[in-house]
Amino acid sequence: MSNSSLVSYTLLSPNHSGKRTHSIDRITPHCVVGQLSAASICGCFTSPDREASCNYGIGKDGQIALCVDEGNRSWCSSSNANDQRAVTIECASDKEHPYAMTDAVYQSLIKLCVDICRRNGKNKLLWFGDKDKTLAYEPKAGEMVLTVHRWFANKACPGDWLYSRLGDLAAKVTAQLSSGASTPSTDGTLYRVQAGAFKNKENADRQLEKIKAAGFDTYMVQAGGYYKIQVGAYSVKANAENMLAKVKAAGFDAFITTEQGQAVSSTPAKKSIDEIAREVIRGDWGNGRDRKNRLTAAGYDYDAVQARVNQLL
Ligand SMILES: [Zn+2]
Repeated sequence: MSNSSLVSYTLLSPNHSGKRTHSIDRITPHCVVGQLSAASICGCFTSPDREASCNYGIGKDGQIALCVDEGNRSWCSSSNANDQRAVTIECASDKEHPYAMTDAVYQSLIKLCVDICRRNGKNKLLWFGDKDKTLAYEPKAGEMVLTVHRWFANKACPGDWLYSRLGDLAAKVTAQLSSGASTPSTDGTLYRVQAGAFKNKENADRQLEKIKAAGFDTYMVQAGGYYKIQVGAYSVKANAENMLAKVKAAGFDAFITTEQGQAVSSTPAKKSIDEIAREVIRGDWGNGRDRKNRLTAAGYDYDAVQARVNQLL
């Protein structure tokens, strides 16, 4: 279970029930009733006396914060059943009806919902606009459902401003999940996950070994005077995002880059052409352009390897 890579501020709240007892298939956006920053939203939930929390907070400028790990059940929607399965998001809003939010908040909410759906294997966000229908609905594989706090407590949450936009939110998130980032780039751009950049090659070698030891297929490139440790090279951005989530979940600081560098061989001796050719045949190096990029990035002569593959086949 990973947290969103869109998070740029973390202040964990003690107010949660530990691991969820239900897999994530709902998202519940709330209005926090105040035009607060992401840090201030987290600050609302640091005291155990408050007995409340949320998984994510979105500040008035659109900054996204983590308050409760996504894998944990937050105390947010006045419903145990809902919070066991929902990712809860507190959004900065006006203090009064209709609890309007800034465009920056709304845009971040769209992005965060796309990211939550993607990491939880969902390709559709649904909004029924009806309490009974929604709560009786059993989401099919790939479906995420929006719910609202006002169905579980005598509250206006998430406010009419956002409530009236939930259909739009669901449509925009679903559209992004089914196109855009999940289709290959047409200009040959490759998205790589970068997990470290070092002036000193020995430090880069050490980081490369750590990431390898964690089970990732990694390589080193040189660009702008730095040795950079990268994982994967994807034409589909969503695939790079999935890998990014895995690398981060393994405890590494990482981000996505489209920067290409000069391949550098890491300290461990390179394998023989013969050995690599057998790995290629086994499928370890992917296919087509991906294979070529990965071999080249790992410091191998693609043509030589391919020639040996052809001999062996
Ligand atoms: Zn609420």
